[in-house]
Amino acid sequence: MCLVELKNSPKPVVSCAMSAKSCLNNSEVFTNSPLVKKARENILEFLLLNHPLDCPICDQGGECDLQDQSLFFGLSKKRFYSFKRVVTDKNIGPIVKTVMTRCIHCTRCVRFASEIAGVDDLGMFGRGMNSEIGTYVEKTFQSELSGNIIDLCPVGALTSKPYPFVSRSWELKNINSIDFSDGFGSNLQVYIKNNNIIKVLPGFQKNEVSSNWISDKTRFSFDGMFSPERVLQGFIKDGKKNTFQFLTWELILDDIVSTLYFQDHLNRHLLEIRTLIIVINDNTSLEVLNLLNLFAKKYSFIKLRKSEGSQLNNDDESSIMLNSVNSLNESDLCLLIGINTRYEGSNLNLKLRKRYLKGNFKLISINSLIDLTFPTFYMGINLKNLKSIVEGNNLVCQDFASHTNPTIIASSEINRRKDSKELNKLLTLLKYKLNKYYSNWNNLNILSSSINETGMNYLNNFKGLKEQDLKNSYGVYFLNSTDNTLNIKKLINLKQLNYLNSDNNYPKLIIDQNNGFNTNTEFLKAYKSNNYINLPNSNFFESNGTYLNTEGIFKTNVKFLSSTKQTKEDWQIIRKIFAYSKRINFTTNIKENNIISFNNTTNLKFKNFTGFLYYANTNLTKYNFYLTNSTAKTKNINQKKFKFSRNKLNSTNFKLWINDFYLGGKDAYSKYSVTMIKCSKQFRLEKTNFNYVL
Ligand code: SF4
Repeated sequence: MCLVELKNSPKPVVSCAMSAKSCLNNSEVFTNSPLVKKARENILEFLLLNHPLDCPICDQGGECDLQDQSLFFGLSKKRFYSFKRVVTDKNIGPIVKTVMTRCIHCTRCVRFASEIAGVDDLGMFGRGMNSEIGTYVEKTFQSELSGNIIDLCPVGALTSKPYPFVSRSWELKNINSIDFSDGFGSNLQVYIKNNNIIKVLPGFQKNEVSSNWISDKTRFSFDGMFSPERVLQGFIKDGKKNTFQFLTWELILDDIVSTLYFQDHLNRHLLEIRTLIIVINDNTSLEVLNLLNLFAKKYSFIKLRKSEGSQLNNDDESSIMLNSVNSLNESDLCLLIGINTRYEGSNLNLKLRKRYLKGNFKLISINSLIDLTFPTFYMGINLKNLKSIVEGNNLVCQDFASHTNPTIIASSEINRRKDSKELNKLLTLLKYKLNKYYSNWNNLNILSSSINETGMNYLNNFKGLKEQDLKNSYGVYFLNSTDNTLNIKKLINLKQLNYLNSDNNYPKLIIDQNNGFNTNTEFLKAYKSNNYINLPNSNFFESNGTYLNTEGIFKTNVKFLSSTKQTKEDWQIIRKIFAYSKRINFTTNIKENNIISFNNTTNLKFKNFTGFLYYANTNLTKYNFYLTNSTAKTKNINQKKFKFSRNKLNSTNFKLWINDFYLGGKDAYSKYSVTMIKCSKQFRLEKTNFNYVL
C-alpha cells in the first residue's frame, strides 16, 4: 500500500523498501498520481480477496488500518466470486485472541516478536495461498510484552482476549495516567466507558523518553483493582464478643480515636509507652508519606515502619535510582547484579536489548542463568564473583579497564540481604574505582521494585518492622501493605512460636487499609488481636498521587474514576484521623501536642518537603519535571573508609525475587487480577516438566 511513482521507473516502487536518498537524487517521486492511486487500488483488492467481511463483529472495527485504506482506495463492487480461504485460529495464550482468517500477512507481529521482544515464537509458515502466521506447534507466545502485538496488528487478526466485544473506539474516553506495576511508572493512556476501564495503551509525555511498549501486567492487571473480593465498606470486628458491624466513617474514626485515648491512659498507668505501628510499603504516594511523617512527628506513640526494611544509605541520592540507563549509547559494557530486568523492569530490558542490537555492547551478569532476550557473559550467581571484580582479581576487570563508561545495574532487592550494608560499600567502592577511569560517568544504577521506592528512600530512611516494635505495640495499622512480605512472615512465625513472649492481655487493634482486601489474617491470628477495623480506601486510579520513579522523575496520577461505595483516598483517611485526634490532649505524648517541626538538613530537602505537601496536593497535573539533571554527584568518597577486614560479606548467592512475572510483583493488584492468574497458570504449565490440567 505504500507504492509510489518514480520518474523514469517503468513500474511503481515500494517506498518502504527504497532508500529515499537514492530516489531523490536521481529522480522525482509522485505519491498521489493516477498511477499510484490505481496501483494501490489493485493491491487493496488483493488484500481484500481473502479478508472476511465481518467488520460489524470485529473488535478492530473503527480503528482498523484496512478499513481506513478501503475507504480511500477500495472498490465498491467485488470481482472475485470464488470461495474465500479460511485459516484455523491459533491459541497463543490468555492475552491475545486470534482470528487468523483476517490476517493480511504484514508480519508486523513476527518482527515485533523477534526484533523487539527477543522471542522467536511467531513466524510465517506455508507459501502463497497457504501462508499462515502462527507458532508452528501449539504453544503460548511466551513474552512479557506479548500484548503489544494487539496494538500492532493493523487488522482484527490479533485482538484482546480478556475484553472481547466490549466497546467501539468512538465510545471510549481517553485519559493520561501512569503505570502502577513497576518502578518506572510508565505513561499510559487509559480508555474508559461508563466509569469502567476498557483498555490500557502506552502513553506519551512531552519531555520524557517514553517507550511505545508496555508489559502485559501493565496492560491487563487493572482488573485486580475492581476485584469482587474487595470489601468496600468500613467495618469493625470485635473478636471477643464475636460481633461484626458495618459502620459510617464518623463512627469508625471515633472508635479509632477513642482507642488511642484509652491506650494513652493505659500507658500513663503502666508508665510505659506502647505504640501504634503504621506499616507502609513502597507504593504509598509522597503526599500520604508526608502526612504520615507529620502524624508520627506530632505523636510519640505513632511509629512508621516499612513492611520490609533495607539497610540503605540514602544520603547519596544517585545510589537509589537509575542514573545512566538513558545514555547507554555512550557505554559499551554493562554489569548486571542480581537482577532479572525482564521481569523487574521490562522497560529497562528493552533499553538494554536495543543497545545490544546496536552492537559493540558487552553484558556481564552475576545472576541466575535466565534468558534476558540478549546474550550475557555469565559469571555465576555468587557474591564472591562481585568481590573478586572489586578486588581486581577477576578476568573481567580487563574489560572494565578497556571498555568505555561501564554501567552497573543492580536490583534494589539486593538491599534486603543481611550483608546489604557491606554489599553497598562494595558497590560504592567499585563505583569509586571506575570513576577514576571515567570521571564524568555515573555508573551505578539501582532499579526500584515499586513505583515509589525511590521517593520513599529519598524522603526518609524508614525502618522495617521488627520484633521489638511488636513487643511494645498495642496496634498495627496496615496501610496498603500486607502480611505477605518475607519480613512479616518471619515475624508471624516468631509470634506463633511464642518467641515474642511479652504479650499481655490488653486489647490489641489491627487496622486494615488495604484496598478493601482483608489479607492480613495470618498476622491477625499471630498478633492475638481481638479488634479488627477495615478502612475502605480507593484504588490507584481512584486516587491522586505523586511518585518519584526509579529514574528520578516525578510521576503524577490524577484521579479519573469516581470512588466506589464508602471508599476514600488514603490521604483523606489519614487527614481525618489526624483531625479527629486533635480533639484530645494526649498525656503520654512526649512531643508538643500542637507544634510540628521538621528537621531539614538541606535547603533542597525543605523545598521538596513543602513542595510535596502543598504544591503537589493542590496542583497535581503540573508537577512533573526531571530531578536527575539537578542531582549532584558525590565524588568525595574516602577510600580509607573501606576496611574489608571489619565487614563481613556473606558469600551467598544473589536471589532473584520474582519468579512469576504475572503474580510476583510488589503492586497491590495483580494478585487479584483474573487475567494475570490465567497467565501465571499458563506460564507455569509450560515451564514445568509435569504438565497438569487444573
Ligand atoms: S500483525 Fe496481524 S495482520 Fe500482520 S501478520 Fe500479524 S496477525 Fe497478520
